[in-house]
Amino acid sequence: MVHFVGAGPGAEDLITVRGMKLLETADVIIYAGSLVNPGLLKYAKQGCEIHNSAEMTLDEVIEVVACHRDKEIVRLHTGDPSLYGAIREQMDRLIELGVEYDVCPGVSSFFGAAAALRAEYTLPDVSQTVIITRAAGKTPVPERESVRSLASHGATMVFFLSAGLVDTISRELIAGGYRPDTPAAVVYKATWPDERIVRGTIATLPDMMDGITKTALVAVGDFLGNDYALSRLYAPDFETEYRKAK
Ligand code: SAH
Repeated sequence: MVHFVGAGPGAEDLITVRGMKLLETADVIIYAGSLVNPGLLKYAKQGCEIHNSAEMTLDEVIEVVACHRDKEIVRLHTGDPSLYGAIREQMDRLIELGVEYDVCPGVSSFFGAAAALRAEYTLPDVSQTVIITRAAGKTPVPERESVRSLASHGATMVFFLSAGLVDTISRELIAGGYRPDTPAAVVYKATWPDERIVRGTIATLPDMMDGITKTALVAVGDFLGNDYALSRLYAPDFETEYRKAK
């Protein structure tokens, strides 16, 4: 059985309890070494076979799985496996092979970054929508999802895999309708000991990277500003099935 496990954003204690237990019982661990904290491998039992998928192709990963198909295998992905995790192609190969699998969610860096920023992505009267996307670079993005077109919503936006593309992001967000002075933040290695946060505006994004070229999220939107409305849920005059209006 293969367990796809979300390793969390970086800090060793941000893996889920279930994920940790799966690591403890695994006979084989294949971990995404480019981003997963290697400290998590301390949970592996004695004699566990460990592979770093950063040095492997999809076929090589599947070959390891096929060789150990009757054992407990953990495929450890950074953050939550459902975001830019390339798990669909692996799951489809496992179906072809007749190998059972399940998925254990993880804390995405998307949440790690919000915690680092002490921010709420969805503020009343500011934005009730978060767009998770990436800028097109070596890997293409469908044209209908261009930064410029997504910008037209003025929603909270969080960019993965785009630390090297902030010039384009800045230009396209402004072309798409954001005010140049809309707040922006770059979060490098959220929840790792060497986490860094740089704050500025969409216009100043290109000057904010300060040597950061990867393992960073770029977040933009007025959720990073100071103006918002209070929630209705906790307003005294708001009645719910749990609380009478005061
Ligand atoms: N599944 C992962 C994302 C994998 S794609 C998740 O849920 O977080 C890899 C990209 O994720 C990186 O290029 C970077 O944009 C982002 N990333 C991963 N870990 C990060 C961290 N600790 N801090 C900031 N960004 C991170």
